[in-house]
Amino acid sequence: AAKEDVHRRIKVFEPVMLYRRQLRRQTARELRQAVSNGELFLEYQPVVELQSGRLQGVEALVRWNHPSRGLVMPDDFIPLAEETGLIVGIGRWVLHTALQQLAQWRRLLPADRKFLLRVNLAASELQSMDLVDFVRGSLRKTGAEPGELVLEITESALLSGGDVETYSLRSLQALGVGLEIDDFGTGYSSISYLHRLPVDTVKVDRSLISDMADDDGQLRFVAAVHNLIRAAGMDAVFEGIETAKQARQLQEMGCCCGQGYYFSRPLPAVQVTDLLREGRTLPQAVVVLPG
Ligand code: C2E
Ligand code: MG
Ligand code: MG
Ligand code: MG
Repeated sequence: AAKEDVHRRIKVFEPVMLYRRQLRRQTARELRQAVSNGELFLEYQPVVELQSGRLQGVEALVRWNHPSRGLVMPDDFIPLAEETGLIVGIGRWVLHTALQQLAQWRRLLPADRKFLLRVNLAASELQSMDLVDFVRGSLRKTGAEPGELVLEITESALLSGGDVETYSLRSLQALGVGLEIDDFGTGYSSISYLHRLPVDTVKVDRSLISDMADDDGQLRFVAAVHNLIRAAGMDAVFEGIETAKQARQLQEMGCCCGQGYYFSRPLPAVQVTDLLREGRTLPQAVVVLPG
């Protein structure tokens, strides 16, 4: 133990380490102000129904417009936000902002046209006792439909399965909110739990489909994963579709939905509004819109 301590102390005084630690502290300080300074904003990536080509909905993705560093992507601040607990405030801002936007989009759409908004939820948000109250309150204030909200939760967060998490998941489902496993296939996926989790859909991680187009073995594997998800009574959404070939292969497998740069990058809200209003087609893919 003593040896370890010495080792740790030496490491701390390495200039690079020291610099990194200071940078992290500074970033955490700045992140604390980001919400109140109005530095966060959302982009929305289209999710497409693969069989019809229609827009099924969008996934909200947070970005940070940092005063000096410019655009900071979520992979560069969400982990820090989770470690520092700042994720709870950020997550609530994301959820409320996205629900306000959903209610606005709803006014553009025919009443019988379903449009799903997906929002990512971090593990620690699920552990927060008043998450369900917040979601309920935010739905009421914005007038958004619970059935149009889907919360994306990673496998590891779902599997930590404490009492609070289980209570939250059941209560959210009782509200009518959809639940989805995110990044399926990247964690310690175990097929034994899949049909027992209180989730409605599975979002398959892009790493599973990245080699599919030129690897028959991988293609068969993806088909098997899709069958497994269907056998568990759920629909699969595939993320990271970058080519027409991948889109076609998944369509031929009978997959429900897909998302990826092939259809569209994440877009500012106004561009999604344009899509809904004008029935504009997405780049490279024909997306038939309601109307
Ligand atoms: P995610 O939830 O799995 O989101 C998908 C990520 O893949 C997004 O990155 C998206 O821009 C990117 N992506 C979409 N299509 C493609 C494609 O065809 N190819 C490639 N290479 N990438 C694609 P982004 O926006 O940088 O977000 C990264 C991660 O940060 C998200 O992964 C999610 O885990 C987290 N995140 C983003 N927004 C939020 C949020 O509001 N709350 C929480 N808790 N986490 C968030
Ligand atoms: Mg996601
Ligand atoms: Mg994902
Ligand atoms: Mg991801």
